[in-house]
Amino acid sequence: MKKIVVIGGGAGGLELVTKLGNRLGKKKLAHITLIDRNTSHLWKPLLHEIAVGTMDEGVDAVSYRGHAINNHFYFRVGTLIDIDRNKKQVVLAPMQDDDGIEFLPSTRIDYDYLVIALGSTSNDFNTPGIKENCIFLDSATQAHKFRNKMLNQLLRIQRLPSRDNEVRIAIVGGGATGVELSAELHHAVADIHNYGFDEVTNSQLKVTLVEAGARILPALPERISASAHSELTKLNVDVKLNTMITSASAEGLYTKEGNLIPADLMVWAAGIKIPDFVGNIAGLETNKINQLHVNEFLQTTRDETIFAIGDCAQFISADGSRVPPRAQSAHQMASICYKNLRAMLNNSPLTPYVYTDHGSLVNLASYSTVGSLMGNLGKGSLFIEGKLARLVYISLYRMHQVAIYGFLKTGLVMFAGRINRWLRPRLKLH
Ligand SMILES: Cc1cc2nc3c(=O)[nH]c(=O)nc-3n(C[C@H](O)[C@H](O)[C@H](O)COP(=O)(O)OP(=O)(O)OC[C@H]3O[C@@H](n4cnc5c(N)ncnc54)[C@H](O)[C@@H]3O)c2cc1C
Repeated sequence: MKKIVVIGGGAGGLELVTKLGNRLGKKKLAHITLIDRNTSHLWKPLLHEIAVGTMDEGVDAVSYRGHAINNHFYFRVGTLIDIDRNKKQVVLAPMQDDDGIEFLPSTRIDYDYLVIALGSTSNDFNTPGIKENCIFLDSATQAHKFRNKMLNQLLRIQRLPSRDNEVRIAIVGGGATGVELSAELHHAVADIHNYGFDEVTNSQLKVTLVEAGARILPALPERISASAHSELTKLNVDVKLNTMITSASAEGLYTKEGNLIPADLMVWAAGIKIPDFVGNIAGLETNKINQLHVNEFLQTTRDETIFAIGDCAQFISADGSRVPPRAQSAHQMASICYKNLRAMLNNSPLTPYVYTDHGSLVNLASYSTVGSLMGNLGKGSLFIEGKLARLVYISLYRMHQVAIYGFLKTGLVMFAGRINRWLRPRLKLH
C-alpha cells in the first residue's frame, strides 16, 4: 500500500488528510499519516481572538489523535527537520521533555508521496531587538503569551489605579492581523470591565498601529482600507502611516527617524516567511522567503512526488501574480492536491491549480466588518460591510469546520459554542 505523508495539520493540511483518510485510508487504498509538531489544531485566523481572550480554544481546538481515529488516518507528533529524497524518508527532530531532557532520538518515516503544508511564521527581516521584545502572533503559544502579558498589565491598572495609568500596546504591521487585533483589544477591554477589573476602561488602553506604507490593509482595495482606518480612529487607535520601525527595546519601538514609540506590549505582524531550514531542504527550489516553488499541479519543481500547499508554497498564476498566503488559498490547494494524489495513485492525468479570489474580509471585533467579495458576483469586487460582511467572515471558518467535521458535527460544535457562551465567561481570563 502506498504511503502518503502530510507535514502540518493547519488550514490546508488538516483538510487534506481528513479527505484522504475518509476516501483512501478507510478503504485501505493508501496509508495516510499526518505529522504535526503540536497535538491539536487551531485555525490560525482565530489567533488574535485567542490572544485577547474573546475566544476560548477549549471548544475550537481539534485533537489530532481523536480526529485521526474518526477519519481513518494516522497521526504522529513530531517536527520535520529534513527530507531524505534518496531513501524517501522524512526526518523528525529528537523530542525533549519540559526539562530539556531528550526522551526520543531523531526518527525517520517512509513516504511514497509527501505533502509539505507547514505554514509560515512572522518575518522580522532581522530588525534588531524585534525577536527579543515583540510577540509574533503566529501560534497558539504566542497567543497565550500575549494574553497573559495583557492580563498582567490590566491587573497593574486595576491594583494601582491612578489618572495617568495606562496600557500601551504597539502593533507593527497594518495588514489584517494588526487591524483586527487593534479592534479586538478594544472589545476585550470593554468586556473585562465587567469581570472584576472595574478600574479598567478603554480610555486607559493606548493602541498604536504602525504601518510602513501609505495606508493600512495595502493588499486590499482602497475603499476597504479607508473604511477600516475610520473605524480604528473611532476606537482611538493611533494609526501611524509611512512609519518604518528600525529597532525595538524593552521601552518600545524606534522609528527610522529615531523617534521612540513607547510600549508595554509589542506585537510584530509585518510579513511572513517560511522557517529557515526549508530554504535548503533536500535540494528543493525555494524563494527569498523560503517558500517552495511548485508547478501548476502543486508538485515541487524538482521532485514530482513531493507536493507543497498553503503558505509554504510559492505558486505563480498564469498572469504572473503570486497566490497570497491566506486560508482560502490553503483550502483551495488542499482540494486540488487531494485530486492529484488520487490521480498519481491511479496513473491518471493531474488537475492544474487555479486560484480563485473570493475576496477579503476584515473583522473589526463587534464594531464592524468590512471587505470585498469577488468571483461569481460579477466582474471586479463588491464592497460589503456590516452584518452581511460579518456573516460571510464567519462562514469562512464554518467552511473549514465543514471540511474537517462534515455538516452534522459542525452544527453540534456550533451548538456547544452557544452553550458555552452561556456557561462560561465571555472572556478567557487566565
Ligand atoms: C492572526 C492571523 C489572522 C489571519 N487571518 C486571516 C483571515 O482572516 N483570512 C485568511 O484568509 N487568512 C488569514 N490568516 C492567514 C492564514 O491563517 C494562513 O494563510 C493559513 O493558516 C495557512 O494555512 P497553512 O495550512 O499553509 O498553514 P497553517 O494553518 O499555519 O498550518 C501549519 C501547520 O504546520 C505545523 N508545523 C509547522 N512547522 C512544522 C514542522 N517543522 N514540523 C511539523 N509540523 C509543523 C503547525 O503546527 C501547523 O499546524 C491569518 C493569519 C494570522 C496569523
